[in-house]
Amino acid sequence: MTSCSKCGGRPFYTRRYSGETLCEPCFRDSIVAKARRTVSKYRMIERGESVAVAVSGGKDSLSLLKVLHDLSAPGGYEVSAISVDEGVAGYRDEALAHARDLAAQLGVPHIVVSYRELFGFSLDEALDWKEGERDVSSCSFCGVFRRRAIDEAAARTNASVVATAHNLDDFVQTFLMNLMHGDVARLAWLDPAYSDDSFPLRRVKPFMEVYEEEVALFAYRSGMAFQSVSCPYMHEGLRSEVRDYLNQMEAAHPGMKNVMLGSALDVISRYSGSSGKRSVPCPRCGKPSSGGPCGVCRMKALLEQHVNQ
Ligand code: SF4
Ligand code: ZN
Repeated sequence: MTSCSKCGGRPFYTRRYSGETLCEPCFRDSIVAKARRTVSKYRMIERGESVAVAVSGGKDSLSLLKVLHDLSAPGGYEVSAISVDEGVAGYRDEALAHARDLAAQLGVPHIVVSYRELFGFSLDEALDWKEGERDVSSCSFCGVFRRRAIDEAAARTNASVVATAHNLDDFVQTFLMNLMHGDVARLAWLDPAYSDDSFPLRRVKPFMEVYEEEVALFAYRSGMAFQSVSCPYMHEGLRSEVRDYLNQMEAAHPGMKNVMLGSALDVISRYSGSSGKRSVPCPRCGKPSSGGPCGVCRMKALLEQHVNQ
């Protein structure tokens, strides 16, 4: 029987793309080490900074909170957890409880902001109003408010960095979807070395070089409780087709996702240098926008039209 390539221990997981076999402790260490390398390679977090980890209560974000907490002492930075309560009856409460429990266990401050508090409505109400508006999917609509809510929560913790749990699969899927939508201008926003002086928060993705299945395995074996039920409004459409396609390619050609990530980063870095991607203040609310009214103000206007009809 093959033994762990690092310590000779009992085999637990084989990385098909590298041929490496790892025992469980070495597998777990490898995820932490990979996140550490990614953070340092792209200078995601500097010593002395304060990092707000966006924690939904699902396996990826809880794993990220745990990993960044483990890295924070040697890395010399502060970690806090931030969560968003969108207002989805019967769904979000469980996830928020898992986020709260892990934060308490790690001794990390945790704050929750809600759509109702920030925008005056719950997601349930907003999607009810949006009924009949076919141009925008639930997640595109919700995502705009989520990003703003995360920024607001991070500002309350005085963080200079917001970390989200996007993994390698998410990154490559988003890259391909931007190409498929003809949305080349958005590629620049995926640049891990992106910084925008007009926007005080840096967004980082420390798991962007870790396969989704490895983050999932890490979470399952960490003994954490996490929410496994999906949001009832989840509408992935094209993303799930892209995910299936990438998984098929990876099964037939191990390492394909890694290669795709490398190619995506290469394209993004060549493109982002020339794209002039600075935010400008939204003329309505003053928050950063890529030009004209920001997404939140546009979505709010859309909602108001429906409510007033
Ligand atoms: Fe919002 Fe979609 Fe996430 Fe549900 S799955 S909380 S609708 S972004
Ligand atoms: Zn605005």
